[in-house]
Amino acid sequence: MKPKYVYVNTLGCQMNVYDSRQIVSELTAIGYEKTPFIENADLIVLNTCSVREKAEQKAFSFLGRLASLKKKKPALMVGVGGCVAQQEGKNILKRMPFVDIVFGTHAIGRLARQVERIEKKRCRIVDIDVATDNDLDSIRFQEINTSDFVTIMQGCDNFCTYCVVPHVRGRETSRLPDQIVEEIENLTVIGLREVTLLGQNVNSYGQKEAFCSFPELLSKVNAIDNLWRIRFTTSHPKDLSQALIDSFRHLDKLCHHIHLPVQSGSNRVLKKMNRNYTREIYQEKVAALRDACPDIAITSDMIVGFPGETQSDFQDTLDLIRAVEFDGLFAFAYSDRPGVPASRFREKINTAEKKERLQTLLNLQEQMTKKQNQALIGATELVLVEGISKKQESTDTSDGDEHQQWTGRTSTNKIVNFTWHQSPPLDAEASNGAASPAHMAVGTLLTIKIEKAFSHSLLGKPLEIQTSPFGKKGENYYAA
Ligand code: SF4
Repeated sequence: MKPKYVYVNTLGCQMNVYDSRQIVSELTAIGYEKTPFIENADLIVLNTCSVREKAEQKAFSFLGRLASLKKKKPALMVGVGGCVAQQEGKNILKRMPFVDIVFGTHAIGRLARQVERIEKKRCRIVDIDVATDNDLDSIRFQEINTSDFVTIMQGCDNFCTYCVVPHVRGRETSRLPDQIVEEIENLTVIGLREVTLLGQNVNSYGQKEAFCSFPELLSKVNAIDNLWRIRFTTSHPKDLSQALIDSFRHLDKLCHHIHLPVQSGSNRVLKKMNRNYTREIYQEKVAALRDACPDIAITSDMIVGFPGETQSDFQDTLDLIRAVEFDGLFAFAYSDRPGVPASRFREKINTAEKKERLQTLLNLQEQMTKKQNQALIGATELVLVEGISKKQESTDTSDGDEHQQWTGRTSTNKIVNFTWHQSPPLDAEASNGAASPAHMAVGTLLTIKIEKAFSHSLLGKPLEIQTSPFGKKGENYYAA
């Protein structure tokens, strides 16, 4: 039988990356193989995001290009999933006659069945119904990485005034703790070493369902054999409990990094955003985190140019950045999202002003990140190897493995690039003579001496392969 190929274009956040992997897994069950070449595809899936205006524009521009592709190849099937699909539903089919299926964020578990219906009947389908429990529980992946995401909950109950997530992904629903633990256990059997637990607000995990608290879930995950590292995202500051802060003190697998979106340094703007905390409360939580875990890296999200943000509000944001000294920031210029309360707020900031504020903020953060990275020069870090660095992929590697540049991450989520030599300085005994082939290197733990620091990464020299994050002599690298 001729193989069928699916090409998936993913826009947006980690939740969408996770969903795309589930999409591929679903389609693999009915004979599709993933292809990186759009021209080979029998089915093209666009997994959309509507959280930022730019991502939504990208989605429609990509779909525009597919119209001409479908003219040349009429049998091609086109699917649109994700937040824009959930929001727009049949409007997409009306506007785009070349689209065969629109499926929402809750319909991924039914995608294979729907694609088979289209193959048989050449019909067009909109499936944006809310998932049944079975659909949510059936999440299983066939593709596996050393480091991967596992979703623990869907949706959000918070209704920040600028955000479409509760409108497109629905209310918060948590998965059963036992199912999450079982999924991670199964993944470790086939090579998972680092898991990132995913949810829009992991801090309120299980509360509505009275399953268990998020710190209790972390303890259960921490007990999984052969799992080395745990990360989680995203945390709402208002729900960051002392119990979760203490988890950084007690759980040896919990990485020393938290992404804690603050969005603004101005209490007036935070109120208009409906964030339900003040900058003082945020700073108290940061202090408590640093008390529990002195080397913890803290990253955050900021929105500049929120409606009504004055120069003084913006200065409050810059002051907060200086006071907290974030390890990294994702900053965005505010844009109206359809249907959310902030889109109806007056006093919109003009585009030129938003751009200027964004650039000022990014310049400040770049200096601070560089300073923090420079403080690591000379330190020895434990790095989980993720693969050949992107920089290396785009350059000529024709001289073989000997000088390839690799990349990995520290517990604090800093990117470390290093040159992977075929022979020592790596510890030959620990590596069992198998350190050089690419497939053996991914997932290796290395101690690396940091030699140079840049704004977004570190450069180091590998010292030794470790057999586990707990060290050869029982030394625990992650203990606070
Ligand atoms: S917490 Fe706020 S910003 Fe985050 S997903 Fe929920 S509504 Fe959106």
